[in-house]
Amino acid sequence: MHCRNLAIILGDQLNADNPALEDFDQQQDHLLMVEAPAEATQVWSHKARIALFLSAMRHYADTLIKKNYPLTYLRLGEHAHETLKAAWEYEIKRLNPEKIIICEPGEYSLEQDLQALAKTLNIPLAIKDDQHFMCSRADFKRWAAGGKTLRMEFFYREMRKKYQVLMHEDKPAGGDWNYDAENRQSFGISGPANIPNTPKVETDLITKRVFADIEKYFPEHPGSLEHFIWPVTREAALDFLQDFIQYRLADFGAHQDAMWQTHNGKDSPYLWHSLLSSSLNLKLLNPREVIDAAVKAYQAHHLPLQSVEGFIRQILGWREFMHGLYWLDMPRMAEQNPFKHHRDLPAWYWTGQTNMNCQRQCVSQTMQHGYAHHIQRLMVTGMFGLLTEVDPRQVEAWYLAAYIDAVEWVELPNVSMAMYSNNGRFTSKPYIASGAYIKRMSNYCTHCTYKPEVKTGPSACPVTTLYWHFMIKHHEVFSRNPRMALMAKHVDKLDEDAIEAIQHTAKQMLKNLDHL
Ligand code: FAD
Ligand code: SF4
Repeated sequence: MHCRNLAIILGDQLNADNPALEDFDQQQDHLLMVEAPAEATQVWSHKARIALFLSAMRHYADTLIKKNYPLTYLRLGEHAHETLKAAWEYEIKRLNPEKIIICEPGEYSLEQDLQALAKTLNIPLAIKDDQHFMCSRADFKRWAAGGKTLRMEFFYREMRKKYQVLMHEDKPAGGDWNYDAENRQSFGISGPANIPNTPKVETDLITKRVFADIEKYFPEHPGSLEHFIWPVTREAALDFLQDFIQYRLADFGAHQDAMWQTHNGKDSPYLWHSLLSSSLNLKLLNPREVIDAAVKAYQAHHLPLQSVEGFIRQILGWREFMHGLYWLDMPRMAEQNPFKHHRDLPAWYWTGQTNMNCQRQCVSQTMQHGYAHHIQRLMVTGMFGLLTEVDPRQVEAWYLAAYIDAVEWVELPNVSMAMYSNNGRFTSKPYIASGAYIKRMSNYCTHCTYKPEVKTGPSACPVTTLYWHFMIKHHEVFSRNPRMALMAKHVDKLDEDAIEAIQHTAKQMLKNLDHL
């Protein structure tokens, strides 16, 4: 067999305008998509995450076939290749293309694998720029050049100006770049009122077959398929976007950081969040259309600027910033462990079986839904990994496995932020706090056996004790960090007995992490 170009499409490249399809000639070229078991087993992937990728890929393949694209689609269980690389090698040899074409992959090692393979097989490889992102790898590199301080805020302002998003010429709409101070509200004692419903997505035949495959091939994997709500087609992703803009965007900002455990039988871990990360990451949605939809709604319905800006900051700021950083700092980013933390991840990260209610809620929700919002990831499960000195590589593997939206280019820099493994390169301080923060931002502590204000003894809150332990241990370094100096000063106020008692309790806790 022979073809002119072989275009490879990856599971997170499901946009109709995938640049690998540019200039595709159905008479001479061929397409390849592969479901490789190793993508679900290299990290022990959540069932919902596997389902999302497989179902979205099969729906995408269906549309290609309907448009008469010549496609080789290797389905799970119908081929013997464990890894993408092995499948690519076999198919490239069989299809014998003159050239291989792919859009920039979202994972460093996949790009390396394909480059190595093309070199070995002596076939030219064209890696096309990924137009999905609003800041290309090259543009980010240029922005970051010259020893500039890599801070999201500066990058975000440049992006706002470049794309004229919420701008009046060179001034930000409303006069401020940032409304974070108004956006960090808790729900108060009474809790959230009228949590919006989440949109409904039909589980069609393709998705049902995917579920059956998962139970057949990955029965032992963590997580549940019972609450699977995620869009697997562009149409469903557009419905999700519309639903968010209509029902949740207005209140998104105020409740962005708040967490709540419901007790009225209405289980809603989603609150006012957009639920768009998986659709964006699979490229069923384009960030430009998401931003446009938010800006249009702001203009047409006078939505609160704090909410609209807060949302746009996540997409145009954080998402693009993390993407740029990943490609700037790989492969070094995956190895960083400045604190030399080597403890194992506690087993309850996979089950939620711990007495710490904050961790129990966030992990159980993750296992049920494959979803937790940013503060649950950063300030509950992430922060606990840092305070307990878990090896960042184990934490990274967990985040890559546990969430439906997990793809390495976005997951790894976020974990690097949560573990402070970037050591100040792109975040100015570690994200750490005592149990008082969790108490303020949620109702978790009300239902916990531990007491957030207690540092020592049997009722001490592990988050609080281990926060103080961490602050004491790194006191010297943190006192020199202007953004940590105030927190470090509180350590100065502790007398020797108090420090000894905290260290004693922390030592017991660190020895006993699986049973806290
Ligand atoms: P919303 O709260 O509604 O936010 C809107 C959108 O902004 C999101 O859909 C997402 O596309 C983007 N966004 C928000 N925060 C970030 C951020 N910090 N980095 C990049 N994009 C952001 N996000 C992923 O998409 N995939 C991951 O694998 C992932 N892993 C994470 C791991 C850790 C340790 C942490 C702290 C955060 C991680 N995030 C990840 C970022 C963020 O938590 C999720 O994007 C968000 O919770 C998804 O829910 P949502 O769509 O309802 O987001
Ligand atoms: Fe978490 Fe501590 Fe609050 Fe319990 S008391 S929920 S462990 S912060």
